[in-house]
Amino acid sequence: MTVYGWENVKSDVEMEADVVIVGTGPGGAGAARALAEAGRRVVMLEEGPAHSNFRPNHAHTMRYHMQENGSMVALGSAAVSVAAGRGVGGGSLINSAIIWRTPDHVLSSWTDVLGGDDRFSPANMAPVYDEIGDIIEVVKTSESIAGENNKLIVRGARKLGLKADLLHRNAPRCVGCGICNFGCPSGGKASVDKNLIALARAQGTVVQADTKVSRILVENGRAVGVVGPTRHPDNGRLVGTVTVRAKAVMLCAGAVGTPRLILQSGLGTTLGPRVGKGLHLHPGNAVLGLCDFPVKMWSGATQGAYFEDPELPGVLPHTLSLPPGALLLAMGSVGAQVKKDMEMAPYMAGCLVMVSDKGEGTVGIKSNGSADLTYWFADEDVDKMRKGLKRTCEVLAAGGAQRLLVPVVGAGWCDTMDEAFAALDAAQLTDYQAMYAAHPMATCRMGTDLMNSVIGPDGQAHGLPGLYIADSSIFPTSLGVNPQYTTMVMGTILGRDLAKTL
Ligand SMILES: Cc1cc2nc3c(=O)[nH]c(=O)nc-3n(C[C@H](O)[C@H](O)[C@H](O)COP(=O)(O)OP(=O)(O)OC[C@H]3O[C@@H](n4cnc5c(N)ncnc54)[C@H](O)[C@@H]3O)c2cc1C
Ligand code: SF4
Repeated sequence: MTVYGWENVKSDVEMEADVVIVGTGPGGAGAARALAEAGRRVVMLEEGPAHSNFRPNHAHTMRYHMQENGSMVALGSAAVSVAAGRGVGGGSLINSAIIWRTPDHVLSSWTDVLGGDDRFSPANMAPVYDEIGDIIEVVKTSESIAGENNKLIVRGARKLGLKADLLHRNAPRCVGCGICNFGCPSGGKASVDKNLIALARAQGTVVQADTKVSRILVENGRAVGVVGPTRHPDNGRLVGTVTVRAKAVMLCAGAVGTPRLILQSGLGTTLGPRVGKGLHLHPGNAVLGLCDFPVKMWSGATQGAYFEDPELPGVLPHTLSLPPGALLLAMGSVGAQVKKDMEMAPYMAGCLVMVSDKGEGTVGIKSNGSADLTYWFADEDVDKMRKGLKRTCEVLAAGGAQRLLVPVVGAGWCDTMDEAFAALDAAQLTDYQAMYAAHPMATCRMGTDLMNSVIGPDGQAHGLPGLYIADSSIFPTSLGVNPQYTTMVMGTILGRDLAKTL
């Protein structure tokens, strides 16, 4: 089966399936393959385009491959820019391909949250991690494509006695062009459109892109399908409406898109008070280091290295890699400074600190249908971020950086560690520059009852039979590691469990 775009929809279209899946990111892809291989008829609907000609162009990426055109910001105790992918493959199209298994202690805690249901326990997840890892071709980043930025972080952290290494990524044919976040132009990244969705399609799954589901259909107290307009991806022209009726509706629109669709469908009350609540973000912030040797942070595997400090649990620093234009934006360069910064850019290294957060936010809906995001930092997360940024300064310096730019408004380049630490110690939360998050999650959590969660351990909504969720919105907690792998695995498990009931 091919991936259909807007051209497939000449007027209004009606389809029938065993399961209609909304969204084609890692969660939807895992579930679709599992359901299709169990012989179920699956239709996947995707808001973004069927295909893309990826290029290092911000405007193109934001227009076609970021949810809400890359404009999402969570406002609360600070402003955090929130990114999520769009298109057949969802976030896997524009993510950095980093692969982590969720730590056992996190997965084990979920069995308690799920009232003893152990389907996501470390023992039950492990074989599915193995299986999916083979399909998405997880490999360790090789030295030959790592680039100096990644190597500098590993070198610096190891000098300080910290655990550090090149990362595992689902990028088996990566040539190190450094633009994963614009989409992979060379086919080096094994995004889920190329494997899990391709396998589902081989079993007859229909994928219809350019179609943004606007409503979940409910009849006699049961979800029975979805409906949404298909639009031309360039000019937004309405070409028709797609209706899919199915035995089960599975939402995989991501941690922003899934609660947004539930609320837009007027099902917020039916699905209970936790819809859109408990947003975790893995908020992050970065340090830049200036070296006296070329680094060219835009060259090499996009985010190919990490380090860990046992004294900082819940802090996961990894490479920050930006093309020159984005680097200047991140530095806030304007006017005559742009030329100076441009000259320094090839000598800069970057490292991003990501925090496993206790802070929480909400996903609501604005009158124009877009998501309304809030986020409130927990004090302990702010403390973790500060400590993580300090350790990152030390790592960059040990790797060869001579000056440091900490993400504090007005701090400027610091020539000594004392200066950098003083700026970080003095910073209030709102003084941090460019706070960023690309891991929204946990907004329609799994749990045991309607007051504390949206779905049960089998993925079905407590408040609406026939409605299932299988994306990054269902995690009961923050993960602490990059979520795509776990999302694929959980989608697979939930897809298999659903197939048995149909
Ligand atoms: C820039 C960036 C870098 C990242 N780097 C990494 C990384 O290296 N490693 C990692 O593990 N994670 C990374 N992530 C996070 C990871 O990509 C996400 O956690 C993951 O994609 C979430 O999967 P999902 O299935 O929940 O949803 P998504 O991947 O967000 O997919 C949801 C899909 O649903 C579609 N959709 C939304 N609403 C509708 C609707 N109403 N109708 C139809 N379709 C709809 C969207 O267009 C999207 O394609 C990164 C994310 C970004 C944005
Ligand atoms: S760094 Fe590798 S995976 Fe990323 S876009 Fe370039 S070739 Fe593709």
